Amino acid sequence: MTASAISLGCHLSSSAGFAAMGETALAIGATTFAFFTRNPRGGNAKAVDPDDAAALRALMEEHGFGKLVAHAPYTLNLCSAKPDVIEFARRSMADDLQRMEYLPGNYYNFHPGSHVGQGIEEGIRLIVDGLNQVLFPEQATTVLLETMAGKGSEVGGTFEELARIIDGVREDQLLGVCLDTCHVWDGGYDIREHLDDVLSEFDRTIGLERLKALHLNDSKNPLASHKDRHEKIGKGTIGGETFSAVVTHPLLRNLPMILETPNELDGYAAEISLLRQLAGEA
Ligand code: FE
Ligand code: FE
Ligand code: ZN
Repeated sequence: MTASAISLGCHLSSSAGFAAMGETALAIGATTFAFFTRNPRGGNAKAVDPDDAAALRALMEEHGFGKLVAHAPYTLNLCSAKPDVIEFARRSMADDLQRMEYLPGNYYNFHPGSHVGQGIEEGIRLIVDGLNQVLFPEQATTVLLETMAGKGSEVGGTFEELARIIDGVREDQLLGVCLDTCHVWDGGYDIREHLDDVLSEFDRTIGLERLKALHLNDSKNPLASHKDRHEKIGKGTIGGETFSAVVTHPLLRNLPMILETPNELDGYAAEISLLRQLAGEA
């Protein structure tokens, strides 16, 4: 592996534990990965096995992995209209951040939430409140807000909304952004024809120093469709040339990149190999 190799991986099942995910990643040519920190449909998270976490840390070190991009359950909603749903989201995220301390220095990505008709102002206020309660100054994890497609009442479908959330949070040094290519495209940011302009806009609104990770997904729908349906790389409306530009872009190529395309492991292995070719590796 050369020093300039991109950190690329996909979403993996956590059912066999941390070290097993590391082994699976290696088997498909990945050098980072994502996993759900708990079952998206609820319930308690498994206790962390410290030996298992240590084994993954050693594997990552040995094989030059980039930072992991753990994913909060997409069902959590910090800005629900129901207080018990908000409370559950806060408790789950606080617990996840405690467990992430076994893998210090990595990322925890979450969907800001859906305001469910309460309006964007109230949504942002509740998300800020939630983060102010959940983040703790000593944590070794950076929490990433994911750029959203703006489907339904989703908050975070524009860079401005993400910037306003970050502005409201006390411990904002613990926050970053994960840019999902399908979501920003569906949200109306034309990364196919104007990638550099979109990145400039990100820089003006949020600041590129906040951009910590990428979700690489093609889209089944046209620009600004606000749909959020992922497609395989090169098979969708964004197209392969854009991903070629992304993986070689000086502002992007050093970020961990996670595939969330509709694939099984063999499909992910093929996409990883394709993207490494596009990046000029192998
Ligand atoms: Fe996501
Ligand atoms: Fe995503
Ligand atoms: Zn999505």
